[in-house]
Amino acid sequence: MCGIVGYIGQRTAVDFLLEGLRRLEYRGYDSAGLVTLDENGRMDVVKATGRIDALAEKLEETPLRGSVGIGHTRWATHGPPTVENAHPHLGGENVLAIVHNGVVENYQSLKDQLIDHGYHFRSATDSEVIAHLIDFHLQQLGEQGDATGDQRYVTAVEESLSQLRGTYGLVVLFRDRPQIMIAARLGSPLVVGIGSGEHFVASDGSPLAGYTDKIVYLADHQVALIRADSLKVTHRDEGHVKHRVEKLQIHASNLDLEDYPHYMLKEIFEQPNSLRDTMRGRLCEDNATAVFGGLNLTAQQLRQVNRILLTACGTSWHAGLVGEYVIEEMSRVPVEVEYASELRYRNPPVDHKTILFAITQSGETADTLAALREMKRKGHPTLAICNVVGSTIAQEADGGIYLHAGPEVGVASTKAYTSQLLVLTMLALYFGRLRHLSYEAGRRIIRALQELPDRVAESLNCNDEVRRIASKYCHENNFLYLGRQYNFPTALEGALKLKEISYIHAEGYPAAEMKHGPIALVDEHTPSVFIMPRDFVYDKVMANLEEIKARGGPVIAIVGEGDTRVAELADDVIYVPNVEPFLQPFVTIVPLQLLSYHVAVMRGCDVDKPRNLAKSVTVE
Ligand code: GLU
Repeated sequence: MCGIVGYIGQRTAVDFLLEGLRRLEYRGYDSAGLVTLDENGRMDVVKATGRIDALAEKLEETPLRGSVGIGHTRWATHGPPTVENAHPHLGGENVLAIVHNGVVENYQSLKDQLIDHGYHFRSATDSEVIAHLIDFHLQQLGEQGDATGDQRYVTAVEESLSQLRGTYGLVVLFRDRPQIMIAARLGSPLVVGIGSGEHFVASDGSPLAGYTDKIVYLADHQVALIRADSLKVTHRDEGHVKHRVEKLQIHASNLDLEDYPHYMLKEIFEQPNSLRDTMRGRLCEDNATAVFGGLNLTAQQLRQVNRILLTACGTSWHAGLVGEYVIEEMSRVPVEVEYASELRYRNPPVDHKTILFAITQSGETADTLAALREMKRKGHPTLAICNVVGSTIAQEADGGIYLHAGPEVGVASTKAYTSQLLVLTMLALYFGRLRHLSYEAGRRIIRALQELPDRVAESLNCNDEVRRIASKYCHENNFLYLGRQYNFPTALEGALKLKEISYIHAEGYPAAEMKHGPIALVDEHTPSVFIMPRDFVYDKVMANLEEIKARGGPVIAIVGEGDTRVAELADDVIYVPNVEPFLQPFVTIVPLQLLSYHVAVMRGCDVDKPRNLAKSVTVE
């Protein structure tokens, strides 16, 4: 969580910092702050609670001119979102400033020690200890006199880091050394952008778009000494390391809102195209299978896989559930879906033919990363399905598949979800074709997949009808989402979307489970959303629908085009195109995304930055 930016060069730092923070605001947005340094050692700090706009307003009153600076948008872990707790935090007698992403687990004992040494704390955060600790080591090194020049600053940071337990993405500025900036990471992402005579730092590549396309991904335990015209990276155990410069794959235009009022709506409407991008070059008609460039395993190795473990959190976990249905159906390989937060501490019996796929939009999800590392340590092949190129999980996995869905800015995942579904469906085809699935069956699946973006475009046509339905139900405070088989994970995901952005209590269930408890909730103020396109369980779900109606519950039904039966019973009906069952999750989730969006807008919620959430969950 949290977004970090840094700049050192010739420009007025605050311009990049502010724009960068806006682009990173999806990572945390309870408060924000920045500090700049000018060549005379003048250090200016501005902080504000709330959104970046509030910080920008304050900056209008206090324009900052320094050409070195760091900024932060916070997702509080320790201490409420107040101005005092907002980053940057100053160390010692205001001789240095830090911004920190992550958690210092042993902050209390460090804080006690620093207080004993006479340090005065101004915030309730864990992060402030890092600032004072660096100052403490700077003082010590100054007295010993055996580290001089820039090295004294690097050593002070390194010694401080060696005392920290927990995670950090960290950037430090020193009042009497405006020509350097030090960045370090362990567990929280950090990248350096290389310009000409200038360097940028950020939590991910998005702030760099439009400034430079040369990016260096820092690895855990690396410390970067950054000057306007040089970058030196060292590793805790390996000493000086030669950094690899890669090409940034994000364009500034990807981050535009265009004419949409919210990123979420834009991203919902982008789905036909994001699915085309995910599919591009990955379907091979000649061999009637899918092809993936980066699995880094041979067909022989993959043929021997006898079990697939999918691990993920939140929406990605729902994608995993759909993956379980489709992979087992097409390839007959047993699949298990585990919450990453559980898997990381569980010790399931897994044999050497088990393969792990970690599913994560950001590639930074802390629990998913920990689960992946645990499985990797046990010697299992670990593969990633993720969207953000160069992210930690993408780098640490043995191989993987990028979604290529384009940057997803709205905190509630939409297009990354459908791209995850698509990757998992293509994997199902791939594993199926390595086993019993016939050439003809493979061709049929490919044809259906090629038409999928058009079907998803058609399901977007329900937008006006969904808005009307949203206005009818937006004042209710409880919703049930019910579906079976391929549409059971869709029920979970639909409920999660509504919870996330409209703060309405919603539960998703396999439709038949509703009788085992949730039906007690049904009354005239608890709408049930049935996801019931025509398939082999249609009649069964119909019976469940009757049970809800018999108890006076309003019903909103998502049905296939041409369906007339449901309309006789349901209060409101939303039509989606008829597709094969394994593609239903793609077309049925669209109206549910739109329903949550419109309800949230009507309730005055901040759709793109829902309260308490952040897009990239980098804390445990
Ligand atoms: N733990 C720090 C705090 O609460 C940093 C949180 C963040 O990553 O935004 O201030």
